Amino acid sequence: MGEEKTFKCPKCGNVVKLNDGLGMMWSSFDKSMFYRPKNSFDLNFYDELDKKMIDEVHRFIEESQDVLVADAYYQPYICKRCGKMESKLYFKIYGNDKTYIPKYFCECGNRYKKLTEKEQEHLHCDKCGTEMIKTDILFWD
Ligand SMILES: [Zn+2]
Ligand SMILES: [Zn+2]
Repeated sequence: MGEEKTFKCPKCGNVVKLNDGLGMMWSSFDKSMFYRPKNSFDLNFYDELDKKMIDEVHRFIEESQDVLVADAYYQPYICKRCGKMESKLYFKIYGNDKTYIPKYFCECGNRYKKLTEKEQEHLHCDKCGTEMIKTDILFWD
């Protein structure tokens, strides 16, 4: 179960849509974390990742004996430099003694930070700085 929240800037009309939660396609991550030997490993969320991150994930899996994927869900992120907000797929892959967590970067080059629930109550337009209004919540699965 996931949700998509729509925020609108009352001043300039900028619209931001943020997803969080887990969709049907991720239901295998939902209840049970699972182990797989690395050669049968297949991330069905590759579509969500850019080439560089896929390479990193492959390298991580190569270096690990067994891997465990956990905590895959959509997560809103924010750039603390320019204020841009975007949802990305957050996940963790546990290897033997290391953990892989994706690092996402804003188009301005700064690293995205997770946007907390509390921060989501007061979002500011990245174009003009006005506090945005939540206009819609859509539930998806
Ligand atoms: Zn605005
Ligand atoms: Zn930025």
